[in-house]
Amino acid sequence: MQWVESWKGRRTAQALAEWDAPIQVCVRKRPISNKEAGKRGFDIITTTTAVHPHACAFLHEPKLSLDRSRSIVFDEYAGNDLIFQTTLQPAIPKLKEGKNVSLFCYGATGSGKTHTVFGPEGGRGSATTAADIGLYHYACSQVFGVAAEMGADVFVSFLEIYSGKVVDLLNNRQPINLLEQNGSFLFQGLRESHAASVQHCLQIMAVGTATRTTQATDSNSTSSRSHAIFRLEMRVPNTSATSLLTLIDLAGSERGVDNPSASAAVRREGAAINKSLLALKECIRALHVNSNYVPFRSNKLTCVLRDCFRAGTCIMVLNVAPTNLTVEQTMSCLHYANRIKEYSHATGGGNGGASGGMPLPATAEDLLAQLSALT
Ligand code: ADP
Ligand code: MG
Repeated sequence: MQWVESWKGRRTAQALAEWDAPIQVCVRKRPISNKEAGKRGFDIITTTTAVHPHACAFLHEPKLSLDRSRSIVFDEYAGNDLIFQTTLQPAIPKLKEGKNVSLFCYGATGSGKTHTVFGPEGGRGSATTAADIGLYHYACSQVFGVAAEMGADVFVSFLEIYSGKVVDLLNNRQPINLLEQNGSFLFQGLRESHAASVQHCLQIMAVGTATRTTQATDSNSTSSRSHAIFRLEMRVPNTSATSLLTLIDLAGSERGVDNPSASAAVRREGAAINKSLLALKECIRALHVNSNYVPFRSNKLTCVLRDCFRAGTCIMVLNVAPTNLTVEQTMSCLHYANRIKEYSHATGGGNGGASGGMPLPATAEDLLAQLSALT
């Protein structure tokens, strides 16, 4: 099976920097939690067949591939530092050329999206190791270096889309209006704070992360049902030169709609989330078949993210939980990843794309059967 193929050659950050796919897709498996272990969950994502499992802890490198030419799988030993070094870090210099860089985390609630982008407890907790520091923090550190070289000022903004409404997390959840003007969207009322240094930027963000996570007490929290969008924009004074780095912690991709025990409100929110994630997929598809019409306007999420797709690099991290307890969600996430990869291979050149390997198993049962055959 293609996506559990073992990683044979050593692949370095250098090699990843050479990718030029329109969308780089990678999968990140998180460690099993005490809660999952307590429910007798067992690990179903085998990320190695060739290397001794304990050796992996020391290798600290992505070992598996969905499609070895184009995407990588990070196992549970990969920390945020490694994710940053192999995905965003090589892309950030492109900001100097006026290009945009974005990274999306997609996955079910509890799969590790917020941990990846913002660190433990959505940035409120104290990250004690390099493996825990959120990608936004690493990105800030790097962007200020680039901005200094460009002579650019850095502006930070932080938005949330919840139940179809866009709100400003740096301004007490004030609603934001989207206005379309000359083919792009203006965020009316958005606070864009000028950040003088990395430290200043982190201070500004502390307000936003506190606002976002106040209600985050369980897996049904508002934060898991909202999309969070962190933006760093570089502007060179007295010129029109700008470039934008965007990190997106998408709402949980699970289908609350199908759950008969969920309340009507939760199902409505679930339907809104599904719609926005479908709209995102449609835009990616349209972009990569070079369609004249990309349906950005169809959803608030895609309106807000339109600029992310302007020339530059777009990275998608598919977060998956490791156990049998969430196998359906993992499957649906990997299918979404495969679709995205197919689209981005449509015009991306390369050698065959997602259709070149074996398809993902169609059902959770097939997946489990294939995994057990491997071990
Ligand atoms: P999501 O945002 O996808 O709902 P979270 O990022 O909140 O998921 O992760 C769920 C839980 O798992 C959190 O307690 C988080 O700290 C933990 N977690 C997620 N990814 C990792 C990881 N790579 N290493 C250690 N703990 C993780
Ligand atoms: Mg989250």
